[in-house]
Amino acid sequence: MAVPVVFTIVGLFAQSGAAVVTAFVFGGLQRRYWRPFLQHWTWSWSALAVHAGAGASAVALAAWYPIDAPVRFALALVAGIAGYLQIAWLLLGTAELSRGRSFPERWTSRLVAVVALLGAVLVIAYSWDPSRTELLFVLRVSVRRFAVGIAFVAGGLAIRRAPLIARGVGRRVVMAAFFGLAAQQLHFLLLSTTPQLRRQLSFYLASLGLVDVVLYFALAIGLVIWLLEEERQAAMDAAQKIEQIAYHDSLTGLPNRQLFLNQLGMALHHARRGNHMIAVLFLDLDRFKVVNDSLGHAAGDALLQTIAERLTHTIRAEDSVTRLGGDEFAVLAMEVHAPADAALLAERIIAAVKRPIVVDGQELFVTTSLGISLYPLDADTPEDLLKTADAAMYKAKAQGRDIAERYQPEVGVAALEQLGLESNLQRALEHDQLVLHYQPIVSSASGLITGVEALLRWNHPKRGLIMPAEFIPLAEATGAIVPMGSWVLRTACEQVQEWRSRGQTQLRAAVNLSVRQLQHGDLCSHVEHILAETGLPAEFLELEITESIAMRSHGRAVDNLRALKGMGVRVSIDDLGTGYSSLSALRLFPIDSLKIDRSFVQGVPGSTDDSAIAAAVITLGLTLGVNVIAEGIERPEQLAFFVEQRCAEWQGYLLVRPVTAQACEELLFCPAGMAARLPSASRAVA
Ligand code: C2E
Ligand code: MG
Ligand code: MG
Repeated sequence: MAVPVVFTIVGLFAQSGAAVVTAFVFGGLQRRYWRPFLQHWTWSWSALAVHAGAGASAVALAAWYPIDAPVRFALALVAGIAGYLQIAWLLLGTAELSRGRSFPERWTSRLVAVVALLGAVLVIAYSWDPSRTELLFVLRVSVRRFAVGIAFVAGGLAIRRAPLIARGVGRRVVMAAFFGLAAQQLHFLLLSTTPQLRRQLSFYLASLGLVDVVLYFALAIGLVIWLLEEERQAAMDAAQKIEQIAYHDSLTGLPNRQLFLNQLGMALHHARRGNHMIAVLFLDLDRFKVVNDSLGHAAGDALLQTIAERLTHTIRAEDSVTRLGGDEFAVLAMEVHAPADAALLAERIIAAVKRPIVVDGQELFVTTSLGISLYPLDADTPEDLLKTADAAMYKAKAQGRDIAERYQPEVGVAALEQLGLESNLQRALEHDQLVLHYQPIVSSASGLITGVEALLRWNHPKRGLIMPAEFIPLAEATGAIVPMGSWVLRTACEQVQEWRSRGQTQLRAAVNLSVRQLQHGDLCSHVEHILAETGLPAEFLELEITESIAMRSHGRAVDNLRALKGMGVRVSIDDLGTGYSSLSALRLFPIDSLKIDRSFVQGVPGSTDDSAIAAAVITLGLTLGVNVIAEGIERPEQLAFFVEQRCAEWQGYLLVRPVTAQACEELLFCPAGMAARLPSASRAVA
């Protein structure tokens, strides 16, 4: 056997072996990574293994059998069919790779059958005429080589444009192997088209089989790398996504508190080493809740997004801004040279927030209160910087909003304590920590209890009973007063109705109303609902609003008052005399009772001014036909004064202190107990 022939046989067997290995690798990868195109490529390389194996055997048998011997024909048929199937599956896989989806099974099996038939036809054609060796070579070898070459070019191009795939080394190796294989096929084709050249270069052509082997291995290795790279990229993308979710605010895309604290920690580290100052600015939008409540949450969200954008544009690239939650933001300013720099930045931020914001075609104006804390002057840990800036922000709010305040230690303690209370306050209602005490209101005409004022207390798990003066302003500021107030209303109505049903038919409930509740759109329907639920008749509910609230009320608050009056609910003006109003202004409001403030009652009868004012209020009540209540009566001579002035009702420690519902019940249902408490001055009248 001539050397080139041996070489050809070895080359073909090596190709077959390499194709088996490649098919094996592809099959393994397909099971591991589940890519449809790999299934077809596995079959393609299996077909190639069969093709090369059959081809090698045919060449080997050529020495002993003539070309038309059945065994050689059979081998040629197998090689031919397998050779075309290789092309079909290669192209199918390539097409799937560029589409990113697999073809329907029915469709592919038909195509494969047609191609197998084509392969068989090309082998059988002219087989009965063995003398036409050249034509047979063209039909069996050249046509297929040409088709394979084209298929590899198509494959290479598809890989270049394939979607979803990361641009990595693996992909380039696979692409290069495809183009290499295409070049190899076409190169062979060119050299083997003329029999003469084929004979002259037989040794060279035979050795080309080994180039195929090398390229198959390159292809297999490239594909492994490619898929591993893709896997790694997918893992990295997932990690990035998780990080984005874990460390960013979903609404604004800004870093969240955790990430901000990390950044702050790093900034502190640098500041310590570089010996420079950094600033933390804490922002809380003023009256954001109003926007949210009146325009809806979508508008609130849009507003927050705009603010986030503005903040991002206001700070320098190396600084950072976070949304801490709700309408709170914080800015970290690196490398501040002096406190004045931070103040300047604060002013820029305040100005940026203040620019009108258009949401849903509506122009909104929001302002922000801002607290500044500096490292190393005010705090030196991330948490403390944020806390102190927060405390300073509280001070800014208290100072009248729309301003910036620098942290001051003494402010800090009170504000921090308030902060602690505030976060608990939100949960007080849920945790059942609210209790009502009741303070009887005594009628001067009968000496009997005609009403009870519900007074809220917070039973704090650590601090014990907290009085309203300490937490009501906070509840007002945070809006917690609305749900709290509605709890008070329901509880008091329920309790008083229960006492009424047990015989105290003249008893009314006096409930304090906050300004927030008064401005609430559905106050009336809410009150109506509670009355219906508890069964308390409207005329036995008296809502107390302080004089200062009454004087500042307009718009919805006044509408609410009128509507409540329309329902039959009583309205009283509390703390009368503290609101700096002229008494005649009270005629503008639909009022049932006036409560003379404790500060005047205290001066009675010693102070002539206080006595004169108290007497004037009582006279005014009489002329307007309004019930007058003196509150905060502590001493017998005070009571004697009001008895003399014919003040309709009394309330104060002298009569009864605010007590629990149970203690109040004892007073109500044991008249002897109440009578014993009444001082002689009042008993004389009663
Ligand atoms: P207010 O409505 O003027 O209630 C009367 C306050 O005076 C009560 O204080 C009561 O305990 C106190 N008091 C009554 N008699 C005397 C007395 O003889 N001497 C002295 N020194 N004080 C007397 P309290 O319970 O601390 O409530 C303070 C304020 O908190 C209330 O003033 C009211 O404005 C507000 N408040 C209480 N409960 C509620 C509530 O449920 N909702 C709202 N919005 N405010 C409430
Ligand atoms: Mg009151
Ligand atoms: Mg009062």
